[in-house]
Amino acid sequence: MRDYPLLIEVLSHLANRIKNYFICKSRLDIANQIDNLRIKELCNCGEPDCGSFYFTQYVENEDEYECFGFEEIGTIEVIESKIGFVEIFPSNFGFEIRSILWKNNISY
Ligand SMILES: [Zn+2]
Repeated sequence: MRDYPLLIEVLSHLANRIKNYFICKSRLDIANQIDNLRIKELCNCGEPDCGSFYFTQYVENEDEYECFGFEEIGTIEVIESKIGFVEIFPSNFGFEIRSILWKNNISY
């Protein structure tokens, strides 16, 4: 079984931004997950500048779904109180994120 890379190692700057975001919202239950999050795969929408990606703990459950707007660069989806998906809107930043993930052997 392959080891999926840690968010904090691959995208440490983004990881800390997400952590601070949830600390500011007093959602320590989510902020405390950041150090252990592993990136599973890229979004496969086909948009070349999309920087969205899924974590290994992603689950589908429409009943326990929360969506947070994140610094105008994207959204963060939390399902069953677990961060499952980070959407980074198509942008230069999205392209940058996608390129870094490719280099770390994360595809879709
Ligand atoms: Zn996408």
